[in-house]
Amino acid sequence: MLKALGYAAQSATSPIAPMDFQRRDPGPKDVQIDILFCGICHSDLHTARNEWGGSTVYPCIPGHEIVGRVAEVGKDVKKFKEGDVVGVGCMVDSCRTCPSCKEGLEQYCDTGGTIFTYNSADPISGGMTYGGYSNIIVVDQDFVLKVPKNLDLAGVAPLLCAGITTYSPLRHWKIGKGSKVGIVGLGGLGHMGVKIAHAMGAHVVMFTTSPGKTADAKKLGADEVVVSKNPDEMKKHLGSFDFILNTVAAPHNLDAYLELLKRDGTMCVVGVPASPHPSPSVGNLIFRRRSLAGSLIGGVKETQEMLDFCAEHNITADIEVIPPQKINKAYERMLKSDVKYRFVIDMGSAA
Ligand code: NAP
Ligand code: ZN
Ligand code: ZN
Repeated sequence: MLKALGYAAQSATSPIAPMDFQRRDPGPKDVQIDILFCGICHSDLHTARNEWGGSTVYPCIPGHEIVGRVAEVGKDVKKFKEGDVVGVGCMVDSCRTCPSCKEGLEQYCDTGGTIFTYNSADPISGGMTYGGYSNIIVVDQDFVLKVPKNLDLAGVAPLLCAGITTYSPLRHWKIGKGSKVGIVGLGGLGHMGVKIAHAMGAHVVMFTTSPGKTADAKKLGADEVVVSKNPDEMKKHLGSFDFILNTVAAPHNLDAYLELLKRDGTMCVVGVPASPHPSPSVGNLIFRRRSLAGSLIGGVKETQEMLDFCAEHNITADIEVIPPQKINKAYERMLKSDVKYRFVIDMGSAA
């Protein structure tokens, strides 16, 4: 076994604190990675604090926006070699045989066999998976991504969740030139959504509850910014959107956005609040044949495609790099929507 240092929650109410633990020795198909950077996703906080009710086993070591350097590879690993810079996102394995896995949609594994990077039952260790708030990780080569050479490594880390979670629905709903796209919530996911939708050629409107973020939203690539608390500003966009991507992490009135969609428009929610949204009005859906949809991260193949797209368009996240000792403070700031626009932990400084 390998000795590892992680940053863990020992219960739903305890702060993140250092913890020694063990990783498996790399098997023939495994890649052993020295973690350089790990982004802080709002899902880490939801999980560490058991806000979704599913965190029954502790300790929990969150982190699924991982960039690192390959330290060692198993004897059957052909895709990677020592020294390569690689990424690990939200999944580390899946059943691999069901129709969804075969289509490269491992996140929707039909057998419920997706093994998430943290807080999933780990069939190899018999315990739980531990994420990227740690100094090393061992992952099957098929769930390791190649990091393009031209991008800043700390800024790449958030692409592994925030990037793919916004890229995948934008691709699925065929966003491109001529699309009018709304992005709701300017946090980690939202700021990636704006950058990616802009690079895809869409007309992008940012919806924010924070008037102070207007100038930033424009710099990130928004063509227009709407302060969603202002009904007059919202009204100007009634019935005009092809697609809205809603990244908000808290329950809110979905009708305020559904009525902004055109006939046949779709709002896709990716935010997962701890308690439900008030039910939207069916009238808002029926009268213009609108859809309310959801989307979960993205498959391994699409994640690589997203990284290559970001390399081509020179896209990384806007980040604030912190040492692991500041994770709890970062969580408090994230709850106040005070993130510009993703915290990234410098795991190289964990010793
Ligand atoms: P984040 O950085 O905290 O951003 C969320 C943004 O939502 C905030 O910056 C804020 O933007 C807005 N917001 C927060 N509270 C609000 C409220 N009460 N009313 C309206 N707007 C509010 O979080 P994140 O990391 O981007 O994650 C967002 C959500 O997506 C989380 O629930 C996370 O668990 C989920 N998620 C889902 C997937 C998936 O696969 N579906 C993947 C990753 C994360 P403004 O200040 O601009 O209003
Ligand atoms: Zn995430
Ligand atoms: Zn499967």
